[in-house]
Amino acid sequence: MREQAGASRKCPREGRPCSRCVASRCSASAASSRRPLDGRATARPVDYLHSYADLVRWARHADLVDAATAVRLDGGDSALRTAVELREAIFQVFSAIGRGDAVPAASLAVVQARYAEAAAAGHLVSRGSGFVWDFDGSAPGRAWWPLAISAVELLTHGPLERVKVCALQTSCIGLFLDTTKNRSRRWCTTEGCCLDAKLERQAARRKAARAAG
Ligand SMILES: [Zn+2]
Repeated sequence: MREQAGASRKCPREGRPCSRCVASRCSASAASSRRPLDGRATARPVDYLHSYADLVRWARHADLVDAATAVRLDGGDSALRTAVELREAIFQVFSAIGRGDAVPAASLAVVQARYAEAAAAGHLVSRGSGFVWDFDGSAPGRAWWPLAISAVELLTHGPLERVKVCALQTSCIGLFLDTTKNRSRRWCTTEGCCLDAKLERQAARRKAARAAG
């Protein structure tokens, strides 16, 4: 699982967090989002993956594939469904871990199966003082294989105690790795969810003041 700490919520159109970006409805923000889905806990989550081409764009943006590979990748609805199923399984597994709940067996089985598929398609290459997975070819699964590998590496080697669910429970509930020294981080981003939470608290205080007055 890639950490989302570096994911900027700055609107590429505005050059700063704009209100539409914060609400995850800005198309400019969507185009640059490292996340393939925003506002998971809301009535209308914004899913950016509508086609296999969207998946490849996201994979390139998340640096799962290089530019030369991205232009070669081609797949259809079936490949997209496989990737979305993996995304949802990863979310269920790690959100359960982040909340201290039992991990759903069905979701874990999906992650395991996709990892097996990715490992069978890949090979280990020497990199620095260790080894990394590498992939050749342009099979549709190439767009999500690194994700399945990363998910299982995190499951098997941790640090699972740093997996957290965003504290913005009314809309985001995104996952992130808390790499702070004292594990005090609560939000996906300070510019996005932390700001949203601050606005929510201000709105709640105003509502309470009106009710009291
Ligand atoms: Zn968040």
